[in-house]
Amino acid sequence: MMPIERKKTIRVMVDDVAIGGGAPIVVQSMTNTDTADVDATVEQIEHLYKAGSELVRITVNHDEAAMAVPHIKEKLLNRGIDVPIIGDFHYNGHKLLPGYPDMAAALSKFRINPGNTGTRARDQNFCTIIEQAIIHDKPVRIGVNWGSLDQQLLAERMDDNNKLSTPKSSKEVMLDTMVESARRSSEIAEDVGLASDKIIISCKMSGVQDLINVYQRIAEELDYPLHLGLTEAGMGMKGTVASAAALGVLLQKGIGDTIRVSLTPMPGADRAEEVRICQQILQSLGIRSFIPQVTSCPGCGRTQSTYFQELADEIQQYVMKQMPVWREIYPGVEEMDVAVMGCVVNGPGESRHANIGISLPGTFEEPKAPVYVDGKHYTTLKGDRIGEEFRQILDTYILENYGKPKENEKALNEAD
Ligand code: SF4
Repeated sequence: MMPIERKKTIRVMVDDVAIGGGAPIVVQSMTNTDTADVDATVEQIEHLYKAGSELVRITVNHDEAAMAVPHIKEKLLNRGIDVPIIGDFHYNGHKLLPGYPDMAAALSKFRINPGNTGTRARDQNFCTIIEQAIIHDKPVRIGVNWGSLDQQLLAERMDDNNKLSTPKSSKEVMLDTMVESARRSSEIAEDVGLASDKIIISCKMSGVQDLINVYQRIAEELDYPLHLGLTEAGMGMKGTVASAAALGVLLQKGIGDTIRVSLTPMPGADRAEEVRICQQILQSLGIRSFIPQVTSCPGCGRTQSTYFQELADEIQQYVMKQMPVWREIYPGVEEMDVAVMGCVVNGPGESRHANIGISLPGTFEEPKAPVYVDGKHYTTLKGDRIGEEFRQILDTYILENYGKPKENEKALNEAD
């Protein structure tokens, strides 16, 4: 696979997590609990963290939320969770941050939307937040969002455009203004005294093509690390596919240093789904590995039973369930590929490309399932326990290839 050449950006440290400057692309997420509810917020942060979120953002929208932040941080540390927490501020960050210094100190980064820092004293409030970041030595994400773009700036640019002999479309003016807002806000932040290695930029939009357009322009103009995300991506399949399409194009062009998928969850659904989607986007592009990949065919007229679909699902679920433990004891297992194929047409070929693969018998095929390990025929399973036996082969393969004893043994042999 050809490596993706990443755009060079400044490296920003958010506690121990590096963003930009060639660091691995960071996965982040955001809670949807009431931040004032300390226990619920701690629970959800822990859940997101354990799913693989490397930064977690929380809303800080009023006094009660601000007062809760140091307690949330303390409880997380007591649980052994030291994930950086980002405070999301709108409208009143300029009051909350100076008013609650313990809250400001407990956060690892502030997120400011320059369009939402007030109406009359917008720039002054923005500067107050930047001063707080300097006082507390915190990085800031300047998060421009098309839904809350600085309306005064936009109105001025629309007026300027109307005076041109060949005016641009209002969409183009809006995209220009998004980029200008990010550039202008970062200049103001640096003028106030915030170091360039304390600034991260995002410019979120809800349209895939608009997002790609605006980030390409920002990446050409600015060297700050970029936080990618399609805002208000939507629910379920629509949100997942739109996010993957937008982020996939940008990441392939080397743009983006940290990502979030802003999926609208179904009521009661698992919030960590957005973390898993981010991981899958990065893994599908070959950028980072998080979990063994299970390749399976779609099935066709050659598979009249649901057995191979059930086995593919069983293996997928098994891998997901085991991964928190495997991650600890089997380093490198996330690079593994498993194939579960419906018949022998493409089955053996796909299985040979995987670390371990099985081809189940298709309709009218002999009831046996060849298993391939590292490209070679390993055994052929028959009977009613094919799934169970395949899982045992998988477990043995993982133990032998990723188990620490083997690592130690290898290290000892090398030392000899
Ligand atoms: S591997 Fe076999 S069952 Fe699966 S899609 Fe191809 S032909 Fe159909």
